[in-house]
Amino acid sequence: MKQLTQLLVALTLVALLLSCNHSQDQNPEDSVPNTAIAIPTDPSPDLTENPEAEVGEPIVEPAEMADISITIQFAGDVFMHQGPIDVARTGEDTFDFKPFLTHIRPFITADLAIANMEVPVDARGGNVDVAGWPHFNTPFEILKALQYAGFNHMITANNHAFDFGFEGIVNTVNSFARQEFAHTGMNTSLADFNTPTILDINGIQVGIVAYTDSVNGLEALVPEASRVYAVRRFNSQTLADVEHMAQNIADLREAGAELVILALHWGEEYQNAPTQMQRLIAAELSEAGADVIMGKHSHTVHPIEWHYREDGSRALIIYSLGNFLADQTRLTDASVASQINDSWGGHPFIGRTQFGMLVNLEITKTADGQISLGEASVLPTLCMRDFSGETLGVVDGVSVMPLVNGELPEFVTDASLRQWGQVASEHIVEIVGAEWLVDFSEMME
Ligand SMILES: [Zn+2]
Repeated sequence: MKQLTQLLVALTLVALLLSCNHSQDQNPEDSVPNTAIAIPTDPSPDLTENPEAEVGEPIVEPAEMADISITIQFAGDVFMHQGPIDVARTGEDTFDFKPFLTHIRPFITADLAIANMEVPVDARGGNVDVAGWPHFNTPFEILKALQYAGFNHMITANNHAFDFGFEGIVNTVNSFARQEFAHTGMNTSLADFNTPTILDINGIQVGIVAYTDSVNGLEALVPEASRVYAVRRFNSQTLADVEHMAQNIADLREAGAELVILALHWGEEYQNAPTQMQRLIAAELSEAGADVIMGKHSHTVHPIEWHYREDGSRALIIYSLGNFLADQTRLTDASVASQINDSWGGHPFIGRTQFGMLVNLEITKTADGQISLGEASVLPTLCMRDFSGETLGVVDGVSVMPLVNGELPEFVTDASLRQWGQVASEHIVEIVGAEWLVDFSEMME
């Protein structure tokens, strides 16, 4: 844990130092080479087979081959209702969502930072017909904001994928391409569908495959010929699809993936725990070689678990990350709402759908090519919202707040708001488990 916290301190400091030109460091090719990780990634050559080694060439001792470590962060659902779209509007068809992510940005520092783009992006092109619920079309600039925050990969296989038909898929894919922002999930051709996502993250090959268990019954909006490749589908009510998903995992490994992330859009909305079938599916897929299950869709946080295989290796199962950046208020929860309403005068804009988390994971590759999952930890987040311009006084629209050591950032001084932050944090910790928290007080020593 000490090493992890030191790493997080270092990463946070780097993020703060780079905050002036943060948006420029998204391209891995632009990043400053780090001698600690710029080590040959292939297993060391067998020098006994090398005749030159016999004539006095220096032999590289295995001890000199350093391990490679990378960090990965996972965040939940991103989607915009009409309220925040209106707040973000800067012109007739221009928007700026960056202010919504300003406070969480210093914490998004991983080599690979992935969140879930729940809905189509600029589905009609030119920010025409941008819209919130029920058929979502989030403006193009959401991608600029997510990159600014530090994300460098998004998941796009979701139940809202068909909200604007195949046109919405084509324009979403084009939006990502235009912003030079990588994603996995939506495909505009069979060739795309069959092209595996494998990312070289500082010398570790990370494979990602994304599925959704629903398209909200909007199949008819996408022509049948395109429907087969537009997004990967699976059924989360049975084990029937595990076999072909296991084959997808095997295919990814065959294509060179050393670590496999499965993004699953699944489960029951607004529940605090996965179904028994989700647990079974997650266990089977972990046994089949998935290293991380990145679950989402419930709009609430769920527990996180390690799955241990017989060989001693382990997989990380995140059943649901909750909402990350959203203005979803339909949920009322008596147990939470009453605490909060009692504590600060009945503010109506609170529910478990404002709770989320950033999950941090460390991956190590040893010189002999072995991959292992290291420390994992959680930073609870709270997406605060206010459209009155006065009720909160600290947020205009929505804003993702880190809950460091259970507290809102210090600039939030209102006692009742701070209490709201504490209650939110306690609720998240109760579900996820205190053992996953990073002790940020250690970082201050
Ligand atoms: Zn969803």
